[in-house]
Amino acid sequence: MLDCAIIGGGPAGLTAGLYTTRGGLDDVIMFEKGMPGGQITSSSEIENYPGATAHNLSGMDFMIPWLEQCQRFGLKHEMSEVTRVSRNEDGTFTIHKSDGSTNTAKSVIVATGSTPKRAGFIGEDKYFGRGVSTCATCDGFFYKGKEVAIIGGGDTAMEEALYLAKICTKVYIIHRRDTFRSAPNTIERVKMTPNIEILLNASPQEVLGDAMGVTGIRVVFKDGLTRQIDAPGLFVFVGRDVNNQVLIQDDGSFLCEMNDAGEVIVDISMNTSVPGLYATGDLRIAAPKQVVSAAGDGSVAALQAIAYVDKISHR
Ligand code: FAD
Ligand code: NAP
Repeated sequence: MLDCAIIGGGPAGLTAGLYTTRGGLDDVIMFEKGMPGGQITSSSEIENYPGATAHNLSGMDFMIPWLEQCQRFGLKHEMSEVTRVSRNEDGTFTIHKSDGSTNTAKSVIVATGSTPKRAGFIGEDKYFGRGVSTCATCDGFFYKGKEVAIIGGGDTAMEEALYLAKICTKVYIIHRRDTFRSAPNTIERVKMTPNIEILLNASPQEVLGDAMGVTGIRVVFKDGLTRQIDAPGLFVFVGRDVNNQVLIQDDGSFLCEMNDAGEVIVDISMNTSVPGLYATGDLRIAAPKQVVSAAGDGSVAALQAIAYVDKISHR
């Protein structure tokens, strides 16, 4: 029986791993379905994590030491996809995995984060992976010396536009309103970049393509006018969906209380409505969706889990 199971190996899960193991829990496994590090590893640059002052620090380079640091204190990392967490009659938990195997644990910290949303325009799914992408660091290089278009007006869209503008001859930002969600200084940098053109009050109507992939996009403006942009790359940055699937039970209900957006309801100490179950990072209500806050959540949940395991084990 594990003292603690951590589901997800992004900033929240890795920090929970560091604090649980260093804080004295004996048997802790962090289950991660892919490479540890989480979604920030797809970011071209991180510059708002306190102390991380290196210039052009990629999300990948930033996250590599996190796992190494946890492993020094005994965190076990298992590359597995968790399909469900269920609660047993004695208050312990079962971790169900996609290969059919299970683990049991006294406490569980869920840190499954969020994934990119699709915008829902014609051709988006058909051309996904063939010109339509949600990751500039992964796919930007394919469009070196070419033009690309970006959908969205949040931090991700604006920051990745700046990244792509260094590789591509021209970047179009297509945003459905006339104001952005992004941080003001990022907007300023975007506006100062000569090869970025902003199309406001504009929505993607249809991806244009051929057998080779994307050739362009047709955009419709709020006043009804349309414009065709010829670009072989289209990046969709329209927000994130929370990864709450592991909390869905066989009868379709959730293991703990959730809000209407599918985010886990927690208190200030990351306690869910179920004792011994904690939710952290992008997955929880009112998440600032920042690496530093996800890491903070992981530490808080870990301290709670240590106290809980001590209490139920009468240690
Ligand atoms: P995630 O980072 O999403 O990690 C969750 C992990 O859980 C993933 O590794 C996933 O593979 C794993 N997982 C999910 N489901 C399962 C399962 N069923 N079984 C096993 N494993 C599972 N924040 C900043 O502070 N500064 C920035 O500059 C910044 N830039 C960003 C740029 C981009 C392009 C993006 C997408 C985000 C950026 N963010 C930034 C936001 C930041 O990355 C997130 O807020 C943060 O990563 C959330 O951490 P998390 O641990 O909650 O979740
Ligand atoms: P976001 O803030 O939710 O922004 C999504 C953008 O996409 C919005 O501008 C939205 O338009 C637009 N949009 C949504 N659905 C659309 C659709 N169907 N068609 C066209 N446009 C659509 O998402 P995000 O930029 O990915 O950021 C997610 C979170 O991560 C945020 O909290 C953000 O602050 C954080 N983040 C932080 C950093 C950083 O700190 N440096 C970097 C990246 C991300 P409207 O504005 O009209 O709603």
